[in-house]
Amino acid sequence: MADFLHSSYHHPILRSWSNSATLSLVDSLVYPVFISENNDCDESIDPLPGQRRLGINKLKGVISSLISKGLKSVLLFGVLTSLEKDEQGSAASSDDNPVIKALPILREAFPNLLLICDVCLCAYTSHGHCGVFTSDGVIDPKESMQAIARVALAYAKAGAHVVAPSDMMDCRIKAIKDLLQDENMINRVAVMSYSAKFASSFYGPFRAAAQSAPSFGDRKAYQLPPMSRGLAIRATGRDVSEGADILMVKPGMAYLDIVRDIKNAFPHHPLAIYQVSGEYAMLYHAAQNSVFDLQTVVMETVGGMKRAGADIIITYFTPQILSWLEEVKD
Ligand SMILES: [Zn+2]
Repeated sequence: MADFLHSSYHHPILRSWSNSATLSLVDSLVYPVFISENNDCDESIDPLPGQRRLGINKLKGVISSLISKGLKSVLLFGVLTSLEKDEQGSAASSDDNPVIKALPILREAFPNLLLICDVCLCAYTSHGHCGVFTSDGVIDPKESMQAIARVALAYAKAGAHVVAPSDMMDCRIKAIKDLLQDENMINRVAVMSYSAKFASSFYGPFRAAAQSAPSFGDRKAYQLPPMSRGLAIRATGRDVSEGADILMVKPGMAYLDIVRDIKNAFPHHPLAIYQVSGEYAMLYHAAQNSVFDLQTVVMETVGGMKRAGADIIITYFTPQILSWLEEVKD
């Protein structure tokens, strides 16, 4: 595909992510936010202690207090309560999807906040998988990439600055870029690819948070085998060739060698790490049980991620890290 580059730097935070020499830890942080279909929802997520599902009426208060501490970017996930889930995940593109409802509200309330939307079908499909199946029960590559691209376009039209496909379906970056180009939005929306996402045991708490666990089987036919360095590099190279603006490795702590490999192989793309739900819960519970001090160990993990080559760190610890960095400043 032709090299459209404006998408990579159309927002001030995207520009900071391309300036790795001067990029601060505060500007590197992305906070994942779960948006419930229930507008007044404010409920704790038991497997992710300290995290909450929020309705659009509660979002502004929470995000506003984080922005006052330096928050620059959020990664949005939708959680359905009453919208019907079907085999194609049609609800993801619906105007009633809580993410689509939240985007214009957040754009208006926080004009400088970078809005990233996780793009996937699993929270919206009846089977809880990240793609669409053929009638004989295997992933349908063409239908899957087109369904993913339609969701990405719906988020882009609702106001997302960045769309972040997390499905690991083949060739969905090109499908998304093609659709954005058709709609003349290619310069206004960046694509952050979950380019090396492994079939990890660390995702358990997230699936409860987003209510996206598969109803049968697992995701090993599309997420990467945890021990495969070669597939991680190939998948990332494929996404680079299809026009991805930002790359990602997920999870973080068990994959820092892959982060360094990818930074070395693709030094000209901003690289994100997702410190996933299981990593968060593990550190949280260990600190609760006096195994170590939470602040010291979290700063060690994010420092290690930076050292490995990450420009961007997506973490549920973002609120605490912002507070800790404020204390250092005082
Ligand atoms: Zn998914």
